Amino acid sequence: MSLEDLYRETILDHNQSPRNRHELQNPTKTVGLLNPTCGDQIKLDLQLDHGKVTDVGFSGHGCSISMASASMMTEAIKGKSVDEALQLVRRFKAFLTGTPSAEPLGDLEALQGVSQFPSRVKCATLAHNALEKALTDGASD
Ligand code: ZN
Repeated sequence: MSLEDLYRETILDHNQSPRNRHELQNPTKTVGLLNPTCGDQIKLDLQLDHGKVTDVGFSGHGCSISMASASMMTEAIKGKSVDEALQLVRRFKAFLTGTPSAEPLGDLEALQGVSQFPSRVKCATLAHNALEKALTDGASD
């Protein structure tokens, strides 16, 4: 299996069996974002406790890249500290614009090919931008 095939399989897997695709009962933070270029919509719910992401869920709809990326991201940040989650978002966004990540990004690396298509980068970063907004927005609602 070539690396490209492996990446395709990984994206397909997250589309067919999305991780954490559900709403949380009492989220600490909720952020909704839209990617008008493609029509992707996402709502991200976070449960935060003592500086940790104890639970995360997403809902919405969109293209396979946006949904797979959301699934991969939620899986990657669950149980991490807020700082670690923010670092992951920033590493991933840099990775998509051609900066190699110093640390492994797990399944998210399967989205590497997206970096060649600037319009699709917005699909791949939608959930990450929602996360960044949720974690850096000081106001709690
Ligand atoms: Zn999209």
